[in-house]
Amino acid sequence: MQNLFSRYPMKTAVFYTKPYDREFLQKANQGPHQLTFFESRLTPETVSIAKGFSAVCVFVNDQVDAVVLEELAKQGCKIVALRCAGYNNVDLKAAAALGIPVVRVPAYSPAGVAEHTVGLMLTLNRKFHRAYNRTRDGNFSLDGLLGFNMRGKTVGVIGTGKIGLEVVRLVTAFGCSVIASDTHRNSEAEKLGLRYVELSELFRVSDIITLHCPLLPATHHLIDKGAIDQMKKGVMLINTSRGPLVDARAVKNALKDGKIGYLGLDVYEEEEGIFYENLSGKIIEDDLLLRLISFHNVLITSHQAFFTKEALQAIAETTIQNLTEFEETGACANEVKAS
Ligand code: NAD
Repeated sequence: MQNLFSRYPMKTAVFYTKPYDREFLQKANQGPHQLTFFESRLTPETVSIAKGFSAVCVFVNDQVDAVVLEELAKQGCKIVALRCAGYNNVDLKAAAALGIPVVRVPAYSPAGVAEHTVGLMLTLNRKFHRAYNRTRDGNFSLDGLLGFNMRGKTVGVIGTGKIGLEVVRLVTAFGCSVIASDTHRNSEAEKLGLRYVELSELFRVSDIITLHCPLLPATHHLIDKGAIDQMKKGVMLINTSRGPLVDARAVKNALKDGKIGYLGLDVYEEEEGIFYENLSGKIIEDDLLLRLISFHNVLITSHQAFFTKEALQAIAETTIQNLTEFEETGACANEVKAS
């Protein structure tokens, strides 16, 4: 095929970058793309930075809504390249109407995210975080550190796609019995002995519930007061998917009355502007987040489940490949379209 596009280097504004993003993207960019790195998140206030760039490259908390997309189109942007799998922060309909393709990295390290998920489960259960602080302080008491065996417990997995499947593999190895809810059955997961059930049964019988479905209108606040009311007292809830799947206020109330016994969050409803930032010398204004952090049976990580060397390399390589493919052919297999 005649290469009509590659004579023009893809001038790309890469938003919300940290030193590790720059390192991996620069290493992956052996081609002609001109990457310019910005620390700022893409928002209506910062979109003008992208003037003169033919591509913008963004991450999970950049704001790619209709207002931003309209501005990008006016500024000559030809493509939005996500450095992640989830695309809930992009208004896909607005992008389609403006003729701006949105490409993503569909899978970079499902195993890494699953390992972090199980890490949260084990830490909450066996209280490694508390033991670490205690022994450093010369406190060798076991009071308050009592855990439970994973073997024989029922794990409810909501969403059995790439990451959910890896979680099923790991908890199956612990001897857990696994049930799941999904709009589509995964035959690989079924081969591992998993049983698909109605969401109400999953809520009712699971000792541990872990979320691996995407954020969609149908899954927004999937875990709300009504769902929590159906769960076992003392249930463990883990969310490494997207913050708004969980109504954080309802979860806080359920922690206070002991209905939720353990909470592991890698994502949070209002994480934009907080996660990925060092706010240790600042006043954090999100009272709900601070209250959640104050519970001894809550463990919050800062959207880091993806954060492995292997994943950063895969993200960078696929992002560069996506830009190259679009530059050379005007299309990209990793384009995500509005349904
Ligand atoms: P995937 O598309 O492979 O799997 C998602 C699964 O959810 C699919 O099987 C789909 O059928 C199912 N699903 C859709 N709607 C559902 C519903 N209403 N109820 C139950 N299941 C439903 O995606 P994946 O790669 O496994 O990623 C899952 C999510 O993890 C992503 O959407 C992303 O938001 C999140 N994620 C988080 C991190 C992190 O660092 N914390 C990293 C990568 C991905």
